[in-house]
Amino acid sequence: MNFENSLEYAQQLDQLDPLKSYRDRFLLPSFHKNTVRYFTGNSLGLQPKSCATYIQQELEDWAKWGVEGHFYAKNPWFSYHENLSKMAANIVGALEKEVVITHSLTTNLHLLMVSFFRPEGKRCKILCEAKAFPSDQYALESQLKFHGLSTKEHLIEIHPRTGEELIREEDVLEQIQLHGDEIALIMMGGVNYYTGQLFDMQKITEAGHQVGAIVGWDLAHAAGNIKMNLHDWEVDFAAWCSYKYLNSSPGGVSGLFVHEKHAKRPDLPRFAGWWGHDKEVRFLMEPGFHPMEGAEGWQLSNAPVLGMAAHWASLEIFDEVGMDALCNKRDRLTAYLEFIIRKVSEKYHDRCQLEIITPEDQSKRGAQLSVFIHGGGKPVFDFLTEKGVVADWREPNVIRVAPVPLYNSFEDVYYFGKYLDEAINARV
Ligand SMILES: *Cc1c(COP(=O)(O)O)cnc(C)c1O
Repeated sequence: MNFENSLEYAQQLDQLDPLKSYRDRFLLPSFHKNTVRYFTGNSLGLQPKSCATYIQQELEDWAKWGVEGHFYAKNPWFSYHENLSKMAANIVGALEKEVVITHSLTTNLHLLMVSFFRPEGKRCKILCEAKAFPSDQYALESQLKFHGLSTKEHLIEIHPRTGEELIREEDVLEQIQLHGDEIALIMMGGVNYYTGQLFDMQKITEAGHQVGAIVGWDLAHAAGNIKMNLHDWEVDFAAWCSYKYLNSSPGGVSGLFVHEKHAKRPDLPRFAGWWGHDKEVRFLMEPGFHPMEGAEGWQLSNAPVLGMAAHWASLEIFDEVGMDALCNKRDRLTAYLEFIIRKVSEKYHDRCQLEIITPEDQSKRGAQLSVFIHGGGKPVFDFLTEKGVVADWREPNVIRVAPVPLYNSFEDVYYFGKYLDEAINARV
């Protein structure tokens, strides 16, 4: 790709962008005197303009109906979640019954591990990537403790090799082989939150199954960012949050996936609640838990309708665009950002080294580049912030930048580069 580092060129790319109209479907932050250049859709996605309408509907029905809204609201709350399952399933490549929108991400990971981490005899370990997102680390640690096991002996963490930032897939596969009959569960992030590295979920799932392990994925940084086929890949379970690439409100509801092959297994141990109970007889309020088939059987509670409404608004947009178009734009936009960062890096190579630690290979990443600034990056980051760039700082020296295909423009990326150039120039 022969890109150019100029405003005119970036604007030209925007004109040619088939998804350009979608930027206008979102509320772009306006807190700064400059135009905000928002690159943190990987932490909290922006608000779709339609979100308020979806929430307003539920507020009105709550006002009008009170408790009767469970059955008489325009979108009855009793079955509200059913409106979302199909669209959410399309995003992760699943069957409708394999997906339910419920709870929050870490809650869902715990509920799924209660069912799918079943240590027995020698097969009692969990394999994961090193430096997983902290919530996942704590979740794994506490699940092990719950079974009287320890992270020290029963958690196998795959590290990058010395001097490297990324985890080599061959090392993951080798460790799976090596520990084969000791692994009860493989639980990894599909996309690493820090490096932006995308793992080959299909290959790792297959390798896990070959040694007899259960394989689950945390898709917090993959859902709405990466095209997946959880069903075809035979992934056992997965969960994701809706507020990152899925733009569905701070702390918003989570997606939960359980493969069809586990749909009819009432024998699986699980922590149960009334919303997972057979809905035909739920309101008989009788003792004895009979889980619903499929992912719905993992629901504990009745749906938080306002959060679900926000998710619905966003899912409609994804449904309209489709993951293929989204991923095409994602790759072009991310490649443009990569080009711009390289240009600045070349210009200042004698003063400051910008190292993109995210994989260069587009099939190994989504819409995030993590830039390691050798020799101290905080002043650079602070300069960008002052200019109205919203990116994300991670110790020791990494700026994470996510150009999100639904609402970021090539012009945003151009300005990121312009300010980055000024920042490094001003530092000396
Ligand atoms: C964002 C993120 C979380 C956050 O968990 P919540 O329960 O939604 O607060 C967990 N795991 C990963 C990998 C994440 O990226």
